[in-house]
Amino acid sequence: MAAEVRAIVVGGGIVGASVALGLARRGWRVALYERARLGGASTALAAGVVSELTWDEQDRVWVAESRERYRRPPGGGESLFRRTGSLAWARGEDGRRLLAHADRLARAGVPQERPHAAALAARHSALRLEADGVGLVLPEDGVTDAAAYCRAAGREIVRLGGEVHEEAPCSLVRAEGGAVALALPDGTRRRAEVLVVAAGAWSARLLRALDLWAPLRPYRTQLAVVAHPRAADLWPGVFHDLVLDWYTVPEAGGRLLAGDGTESTESDPDAFRTQADAAFLESVARRLGARTGGGEDATLGRAYAGILTATPDRRPLLGPVPGEDGLWLAAGMNGFGVMRGPAVGEAMARWLAAGDEEAVGTACLPGRVSWEGPPAFPIRQGYTL
Ligand SMILES: Cc1cc2nc3c(=O)[nH]c(=O)nc-3n(C[C@H](O)[C@H](O)[C@H](O)COP(=O)(O)OP(=O)(O)OC[C@H]3O[C@@H](n4cnc5c(N)ncnc54)[C@H](O)[C@@H]3O)c2cc1C
Repeated sequence: MAAEVRAIVVGGGIVGASVALGLARRGWRVALYERARLGGASTALAAGVVSELTWDEQDRVWVAESRERYRRPPGGGESLFRRTGSLAWARGEDGRRLLAHADRLARAGVPQERPHAAALAARHSALRLEADGVGLVLPEDGVTDAAAYCRAAGREIVRLGGEVHEEAPCSLVRAEGGAVALALPDGTRRRAEVLVVAAGAWSARLLRALDLWAPLRPYRTQLAVVAHPRAADLWPGVFHDLVLDWYTVPEAGGRLLAGDGTESTESDPDAFRTQADAAFLESVARRLGARTGGGEDATLGRAYAGILTATPDRRPLLGPVPGEDGLWLAAGMNGFGVMRGPAVGEAMARWLAAGDEEAVGTACLPGRVSWEGPPAFPIRQGYTL
């Protein structure tokens, strides 16, 4: 028979691993269940961007805290954060919105520059920018390896006396008296004071077994690896191009990752198309040609799709599931789970273990949005202003 644990966390991505780590660090005995490998699902497929250019102050604070946690991964070891800086580029109304965000970030003390097209072109000769565009550079932004963070968190949880179960697909069942239990692959059940569902795009499916309609909709997003002949003459960091609606992330060896955000239709997380679409690859090639000198000669390498989770208002669902004693949810990261995950996990742990409800705040409470019937809200673009 399994030992008693105080909390069970389902899902070993960046969110679940961080919640479990936060609880283990506070002396809670935890069991983390992952159906495959820690950090191996959406977390492993992410571009790894960590940027303070977020929609609101709460998210920015979470990003800044997560960046520091990636710098000092659980259990010690080398930093998992690579500081590259980011450049956001916009025009017209988007340009005005970008500057409004820049003002907000400046008030929060975030270092920044607002370079003109000519200044950028002088330094990065393969970058083609519109003369009337607006640029925002955030030098502290960068890229991380969130899957490595999950693995380090797993080792630390075990060191602190917790349990980590990989290759352990679980489901939720209603036990006697209505309480929720975990059904394990070997057919046994397990209960704890708190059960946290942090299964990313699979969270809604898990909760359906309890007859709950979680307001979460999984959707697909794509990335392509590009070898660019003039990579050294491009902007060297993360590039958010709000004019052409795509982003690039620098990789080793003159390669870039290129992505374009969001599909507005729901996908089945167990049956979505994992290969990139021809239309996406064509659009990446077109943007490379338009935005970069030598882009016509760039070669597209590996390309793939991953799965993300939308919520009605694009804020995550963090906290108790309405009407369910001891059942908590940490999901709906809307394409920004890597950059917020470590801090969100810590905030959830502070709430659970120390009763600090303010750590998460009411804006993310799961009960703020409807749980009535199948969710039908629109899935909206991931990276907007
Ligand atoms: C192509 C792409 C690019 C992205 N780029 C970025 C980026 O640059 N920056 C950023 O911040 N975010 C990015 N994201 C988003 C980010 O990857 C997600 O927001 C984040 O990984 C979500 O973490 P999670 O822990 O909620 O989900 P996941 O990492 O998916 O973890 C959920 C885990 O639950 C497990 N699970 C599911 N069902 C069960 C079950 N029944 N029993 C046990 N375990 C189960 C899964 O196996 C999985 O490991 C990107 C995503 C994609 C797909």
